Amino acid sequence: MTRTSARKRGYTAAWDKARAAFLAEPDNQFCRECEKTGLLNPGTMHLDGTLETNPWRMHLVVDHIIAHKNDQRLFWDRSNWQPLCPDHHDIIKQREEHGRMTGAVDINGRPVGAHPWNL
Ligand SMILES: [Zn+2]
Repeated sequence: MTRTSARKRGYTAAWDKARAAFLAEPDNQFCRECEKTGLLNPGTMHLDGTLETNPWRMHLVVDHIIAHKNDQRLFWDRSNWQPLCPDHHDIIKQREEHGRMTGAVDINGRPVGAHPWNL
């Protein structure tokens, strides 16, 4: 990704600042999804707890829980933000790109609960 395309999507210097402040808060030190499985991952581990070896991926990402799709209100709404490890962030972005954001999903990306797949 080039700086230009990142900028076009709304990721500006203001976002860099807001993201850094968010990740500095005590509640946002670990990947939200890894926490659900009992793993405290400060962004430096894979989903199975082994250490990430790619230095470009050793950090938490601020994810928009609801895809903002350039909606500025959603983009800047902190209640719509969550810290994720790079692996979980990739999983969620891939799911969005495939248009399968249907609700709660398990770690394999399959819907949980009362979904046709589970009936
Ligand atoms: Zn994670």
